[in-house]
Amino acid sequence: MLAVHQLLAFNDNYIHLLLDEASGEGAVIDPGDAAPVLQAVERNGWKLTQIWTTHHHADHAGGTEELKAKLGLKVFGAAIDAHRLPGLDVGLKDQDELRLGEHRARALFVPGHTSGHLAYWFDDERMLFPGDTLFAMGCGRLFEEPADVMWASLSRLKNLPGDTLVYCAHEYTLANGRFAKNIEPENESLLLRLNEARAMRDKGLSTVPFRLDLDLATNPFLRAGSAQAFAELRRQKDVFK
Ligand SMILES: [Zn+2]
Repeated sequence: MLAVHQLLAFNDNYIHLLLDEASGEGAVIDPGDAAPVLQAVERNGWKLTQIWTTHHHADHAGGTEELKAKLGLKVFGAAIDAHRLPGLDVGLKDQDELRLGEHRARALFVPGHTSGHLAYWFDDERMLFPGDTLFAMGCGRLFEEPADVMWASLSRLKNLPGDTLVYCAHEYTLANGRFAKNIEPENESLLLRLNEARAMRDKGLSTVPFRLDLDLATNPFLRAGSAQAFAELRRQKDVFK
């Protein structure tokens, strides 16, 4: 079994811990802050061995060096971003394999939000860790690449199996849902999902992970149909209030 634990950092970042029960090995994905990870590790007696970074932004990589120093972890991330990923030990390119006990994941190169962005994909377990590329009913902002590059990356993620569980790195669901509803006011699946998300957030629950097929039915960015339509949506979202 591969267990996933979710920690909240800052206001709305999710740090995910993966624990392989058979080997006792653990990995942490995008530790923007070391403190919540150290607390969870101490409290539960977990043994972490690896850090997997999706991209260089401080709210994803800011806790890496402290965790590496204190716990002796091996740091994985995009080879192309070696100059700006703190503490990087193993540079990855598209399709490179990562291992946690007997579990295998692959790095998917998904530039758009940043030029060196990776997602981590577990084929057997049907789990995706897309960092800031894909969110529930939304997608990351385009900081370093044009829209067609992000569209190509999202199109790759779209083609993963529908029953994939998506563990994105932020709780942006309600804000994204409001924009999505504005774009597709008659999409029943979207209205239902937004209501469910509101009820979950009212109870303080996380809306992450979510199923990819639900997102395919409700995320206007995945439903854009062309790079051009996607670019227009992204422009609208950037100024949506
Ligand atoms: Zn980011």
